[in-house]
Amino acid sequence: MAEAHPIYARIDGPIIMIGFGSIGKGTWPLIERHFDYDRTRFTVIEPDARQHGFLRDNGLAFIDTALTPENYREVLGGLLEPGKGFCVNLSVDTSSLDLMKFCREIDVPYIDTVVEPWAGYYFGTTDNAARTNYALRQAVRDEKAANPGGTTAVSCCGANPGMVSWFVKEGLLTLAQDLGRDDPVPQNRADWARLMQSLGVKGIHIAERDTQARRTPRPRNVFVNTWSVEGFISEGFQPAELGWGTHEPWFPENGHRQETGCKSAIWLDRPGAITRVHTWCPTPGPQFGFLVTHNEAVSISDYFTVGEGHEPEYRPTCHYAYHPCDDAVLSLHEMFGGGVTQSEHHILGEDEIVEGIDELGVLLYGHEKNALWFGSRLSNAETRTLAPYQNATGLQVTSAVLAGMVWALENPGAGIVEADEMDHARCLEVQRPYLGPVEAHYTDWTPIQDRWELFPEDIDPSEPWAFRNVLAS
Ligand code: NAD
Repeated sequence: MAEAHPIYARIDGPIIMIGFGSIGKGTWPLIERHFDYDRTRFTVIEPDARQHGFLRDNGLAFIDTALTPENYREVLGGLLEPGKGFCVNLSVDTSSLDLMKFCREIDVPYIDTVVEPWAGYYFGTTDNAARTNYALRQAVRDEKAANPGGTTAVSCCGANPGMVSWFVKEGLLTLAQDLGRDDPVPQNRADWARLMQSLGVKGIHIAERDTQARRTPRPRNVFVNTWSVEGFISEGFQPAELGWGTHEPWFPENGHRQETGCKSAIWLDRPGAITRVHTWCPTPGPQFGFLVTHNEAVSISDYFTVGEGHEPEYRPTCHYAYHPCDDAVLSLHEMFGGGVTQSEHHILGEDEIVEGIDELGVLLYGHEKNALWFGSRLSNAETRTLAPYQNATGLQVTSAVLAGMVWALENPGAGIVEADEMDHARCLEVQRPYLGPVEAHYTDWTPIQDRWELFPEDIDPSEPWAFRNVLAS
């Protein structure tokens, strides 16, 4: 008997998907499953001929074009219908801001998983401040401030950024309950920030360990990853960035504050993908992660700020601490060591992966119970039973896109929103069937434990959770 999947909404009019890479290919079957829509009105914009066979085989219409600043209004304008349908942007090298503005102009709901710029941005300037995610995000926030309300456009709604913002809230409620408190569920941003502050949370790692692996070793000169290689290289070469908390007693020598906007984050003069931090996940326990810049590091620290500017009353530190799959770690090592990016890129498919999980959660630290990891521990094996055409990493992202689309359809006039600003309970309700085990784990580990005594390090024992101790030397 076919499994019953809830239909969340009817979508009249065209659904346009921009980009059909690992995430687009995995999102389509979820759209197929959970929306009542007309498949003949589903069109993909995809310039890479390698994706066209799958699209043809599945009877999906596509346009073989790369969107550019010159053509996007014409291409999208020819496909979308004002006031109807949905625009789902899952591409690289397209400006999320421009696409979102156009969709809002013609009253079409929009979603993406990252604030992506037009091609050339990531490597087109030596001005590192301009290459930060802070700058990319602030431009979207400025647009929201200039044009509040209006057609819903969901910004950055994948796994991270995206789902992890919902995990932060669920983690806070879990911590409050486990501390025997009876706080009401916060109803607005200020209440959430006060809850985090009153729980004594000093900061958050987006703590991820991806153990997915295939049987054959990685060949030399091939960048292997479990999601977009292009996307990972771009963000890996951006400066490391983190939301900067009020408990930090020290400031990094290569750190830079931001002078405009919300000022919640700082950036380091070093690429994120070779900036290591000490962190913790349930499977490995203590581990190294890379401090790769991400929108959520800026947005979460901003959302949970009490006060404003450089010296608010309270702000959590927040950053990504990412241990990608082992083949990706070797790929980074080869790329940064050799000074050139590999010419061949490969995303591990669900059928070649023979073991492993993507353990992706939030580590809320510094409180009475020390640290709580809350997240999804989805295996590739389970993923294969849940949804087709994707690995575990993919499903954590695509199910967040699904949840974001459902929320957008249920909240059509919400304007530009990030995951922090959405109803986390509703979004997780939609997403959870696809996340495998979603678990809470407490740990007594801190970044000053398990250090190598043979080579004493310059750590600050008075504040175990200081970023100075988290940053690996
Ligand atoms: P991918 O590299 O597999 O696919 C990207 C697709 O975009 C490719 O098929 C490419 O041909 C297409 N594309 C490139 N230039 C284009 C253009 N100008 N116009 C239209 N299409 C174009 O990447 P992916 O793994 O599918 O990831 C897609 C996006 O999702 C990326 O931006 C990535 O950073 C983001 N992502 C977000 C999360 C998250 O959790 N928030 C996770 C994974 C990926």
